[in-house]
Amino acid sequence: MSGRVILVGAGPGDPGLMTIRAVEAIGEADVILHDRLIPATALTFAHPGAELIDVGKTGGGEQVPQAQTERLMLEHARAGRVVVRLKGGDPFVFGRGGEEALLCHELGIPFEVVPGVTAGIAAPALAGIPVTQRGMASAVAFVTARGAGDEQADWDALAKFPGTLVFYMGVGALEAVAQRLIGAGRGPDEPAAIVERGTLPGQFVVTATLDSIAERGEQLGVRSPAVTIVGPVVELSEQLGVVEDGPLANTSVVVTRTPHQASEIGRRLRDLGARVIDAPAIAIESLQASVPDLQPFDLLVLTSPNGVRFFFEQLRESGRDSRALAGLRIAVVGPGTAAALREHGLEPDIVPERAIGEGLVAALAGVEVRRALVARAQDARDVVVDALRQAGADVRVLALYRTRAAELDEHLREPVLSADWALFASASAARHFVAAVGGAAVIAASGLRTATIGPQTSAALREAGVEPAVEAATHTPDGLIDALCDQVRT
Ligand code: SAH
Repeated sequence: MSGRVILVGAGPGDPGLMTIRAVEAIGEADVILHDRLIPATALTFAHPGAELIDVGKTGGGEQVPQAQTERLMLEHARAGRVVVRLKGGDPFVFGRGGEEALLCHELGIPFEVVPGVTAGIAAPALAGIPVTQRGMASAVAFVTARGAGDEQADWDALAKFPGTLVFYMGVGALEAVAQRLIGAGRGPDEPAAIVERGTLPGQFVVTATLDSIAERGEQLGVRSPAVTIVGPVVELSEQLGVVEDGPLANTSVVVTRTPHQASEIGRRLRDLGARVIDAPAIAIESLQASVPDLQPFDLLVLTSPNGVRFFFEQLRESGRDSRALAGLRIAVVGPGTAAALREHGLEPDIVPERAIGEGLVAALAGVEVRRALVARAQDARDVVVDALRQAGADVRVLALYRTRAAELDEHLREPVLSADWALFASASAARHFVAAVGGAAVIAASGLRTATIGPQTSAALREAGVEPAVEAATHTPDGLIDALCDQVRT
């Protein structure tokens, strides 16, 4: 029995701000007890067999009482499982992680803490507010705004605190907080800011003075999650606040690929100034496939970067490596698959000009093939297989993985539907995305425009009732981004 508990901080919301150890721990878990305020893609790193339990609190009310969460945590750990207790931000900052660690300590259950990036530093940072700054603030205090009604709280001491105050929780209590601070001597003119949904799509910043911040926040409809910052450092947001620049500035773009594939697209979009919303519509599951002896084949066809990844994983598991491909001709469907292959030290022999199945069929015309192995997704199209068979080849299909629908996270719904564009790099992502948001009519009503990587993806989108606004001329992720830039510019 090697049961244990890992208290993991998942950061403030942007999946890019999870630590490497957090992602590893999520992958190790047999059971994940997760809160509501975690990055949308955090759970996609879980082991396919892991049990995911939502113990999140909605609003102020407790959905799952703390005692029950603790009971689940202990039960599973005692049964020999690796339990990840996944929390937003840092587990020890207003996260009750300390209590859960103490409990493990008292009961002799091994535990580990994985610190996370806390909202009280990250949200102000992305609003251009450093919480400490030479000559302006040499200290910072993290405070819960929930204590506003608490007569016992030492408001005098807090008002005199020589540095920045960062309030977590209690956006509704801001008026009381400000009044008490001012009553205890803090200057009513001191700069203050509220950062709502910090680091997330739709991050929203309100700045005002201490005596007017609550009213300003209310006028603008600020809601949880938000942190409030009080101190002169707030003024730096005028200079350091992000000014979006680039061809996709002021454009919000939904990326529907799996996190594994989306990071490259996301990075490029961000470099171009876009606000990127990761909303994976598909998840990928590896299948129990075994790579046959490759000697009898004279052609290997790989149709996606995922195919390459799983092919070599299976090869390795059976005790082989790239040398097993010696002498074999390799055809790939496009430059992305070619790049994935090069990571294994192999150069494809055949890369079609048009990166779609039909392009590969054209590239293979005239190539003599006797026995071909086509390694691909279970649900892939058969164009290449059919064409090879028609040309007289003996074709074996190796289904390495399958794609399935991924649910749209509830707190992603609003940012996704109020975005400008959604990008689709595969037919399955297109189909599953339309279903996940509730159908074509929902998309039409939202004004979200769609861009696809090529004709197959467009066809899938049309079949689901959505007319793509843009189709990439070059059927690669870069081609898709270029098509989007052209469209936005005109
Ligand atoms: N352990 C978390 C805090 C949990 S308490 C951490 O270290 O960040 C929950 C409070 O955190 C929210 O009420 C809000 O004040 C703050 N918070 C969490 N995520 C936030 C975000 N993305 N933007 C602004 N505030 C956030």
